[in-house]
Amino acid sequence: MGTQRVYNFSAGPSMLPLEVLERAGAEITNYQGSGMSVMEMSHRSKVFQKIFDDTQAKFRKLLKVPDSYKILFLQGGASTQFSMAPLNLIGKTGKADYAVTGNFSNIAYKEAKKFGQINLAVSSADRNHTYIPTQDQIQLDPEASYFYYCANNTIYGTEWQYVPETNGVPIVCDMSSDILSRPVDVSKYGIIFAGAQKNMAPAGLTVVIIKEELAGHELPYTPLMMTYKTMIDKDSMYNTPPCWCIYMLGLVLDWLEEQGGIPGMEAIKHGKAQMLYDVIDSSRLFTCAVEPGSRSDMNVVFRTASEELDAKFVKESVEAGFTNLKGHRSVGGMRASIYNAMPTEGVEKLCDFIKAFDQNN
Ligand SMILES: *Cc1c(COP(=O)(O)O)cnc(C)c1O
Repeated sequence: MGTQRVYNFSAGPSMLPLEVLERAGAEITNYQGSGMSVMEMSHRSKVFQKIFDDTQAKFRKLLKVPDSYKILFLQGGASTQFSMAPLNLIGKTGKADYAVTGNFSNIAYKEAKKFGQINLAVSSADRNHTYIPTQDQIQLDPEASYFYYCANNTIYGTEWQYVPETNGVPIVCDMSSDILSRPVDVSKYGIIFAGAQKNMAPAGLTVVIIKEELAGHELPYTPLMMTYKTMIDKDSMYNTPPCWCIYMLGLVLDWLEEQGGIPGMEAIKHGKAQMLYDVIDSSRLFTCAVEPGSRSDMNVVFRTASEELDAKFVKESVEAGFTNLKGHRSVGGMRASIYNAMPTEGVEKLCDFIKAFDQNN
């Protein structure tokens, strides 16, 4: 194996900023004079409690989370939230609205059906999830306990460019693959959740931002570990939290601050995505099936007209130092996941590679 780092376009787990990895490496055997690694510390120790509190405070400041919301550091991945959200919220009326715009919202929709009466408020399956529905296409049930959607569809490469208007019904949103890439008006949401391994930290941590008043109304058989109230009351430390991942998130948040915070990151990530879409749109061979206006700044899906040429592209891209550009098996073609940690330089190099391939084939 070479010693060079590659440009890793993985959809997740994905790249972490090099500076963050280097700092974690420097502190790995002896965290700030404690004589031990963060991996070896008691989660009840003063040293770890400070890491935890600082990380939570940095997160609150960067994403401008209002005081009436709690920030939880949980385990179980984003997928556990597919059950946890309905278990905790659906008791109000027994009904909920779901927007299905891709793979993960479809899984969440099917899971929620176990717990109540679920209305498919809108689906983009009619055009293979290549677009985000408009507000007037969403059919809301006024009696819904909550409205659910997924902000960025990691597999299909679409991203909501607006927050749906639900007339007071709390919104639950899966932001796993675009959290911290753009400003969010948290006050418009009931719950925001995200698995860490796309844009925040290593796999094993799930961040949940919850309006506190929504907790404490769970269905009676809700497991203790899946009750938001349990985790709020114990500040995510009912049991051992994912300590190492929380520490890594703290380092990523420091790095994010240095990039100009979330507004700074938004400008950078939008520039990267625009560059890539422009190259695809102006090429002879490549197309992006996602409708303009619905395109994701995080996951760029594209393809040629031939599966053989796609395979050739993927093979040659690996030889050129790019990894994980093969599209998801359900969509085919290629996918470049360009989360926050992907440097602009990596996208520029990929654009050059695409242009050269376009000329030579
Ligand atoms: C990756 C992903 C998930 C699944 O996350 P896990 O942490 O593996 O459960 C859910 N939703 C979205 C939008 C994702 O990108």
